[in-house]
Amino acid sequence: MAGPMQGGCLCGAVRFTATPKDHNVGVCHCSMCRRWAAGPFFAMECEGAVKVADETQLGVYRSSEWAERCFCKKCGSVLFYRLVGKDFWAISAEALDDRGSFSLASQIFIDEKPGYYEFANKTHNMTGAEVFAAFAPPGGAAKG
Ligand SMILES: [Zn+2]
Ligand SMILES: [Zn+2]
Repeated sequence: MAGPMQGGCLCGAVRFTATPKDHNVGVCHCSMCRRWAAGPFFAMECEGAVKVADETQLGVYRSSEWAERCFCKKCGSVLFYRLVGKDFWAISAEALDDRGSFSLASQIFIDEKPGYYEFANKTHNMTGAEVFAAFAPPGGAAKG
């Protein structure tokens, strides 16, 4: 159970309210997330849509047939991954203001993780193939 949380970008042009499903952080090691987020993407799944205070400040990049990646137009902060036409939002854990109660719960696309880093956290890990099997894209919350 988690209530609504506030978050925003580095420069403050984008402020938003989101309701994470829980306080479990999932990290994606896929090549697209890493290039986009300058590292693995630490994300939290949300209940319902994220409410952005000023949509005009939000950049949207359609990264695949089924997904969009949102960022601040001014400072470039990575903010959300969302599925087109579906109610699925994964918000950047690091865009939220208060991360005190978060814990790292899962790692996906573990097979795409580069060798130069490795997390010591005990997590549920899935390969890309396991993620695709579980979420059956193009509807799922997978790479893209
Ligand atoms: Zn910004
Ligand atoms: Zn990814």
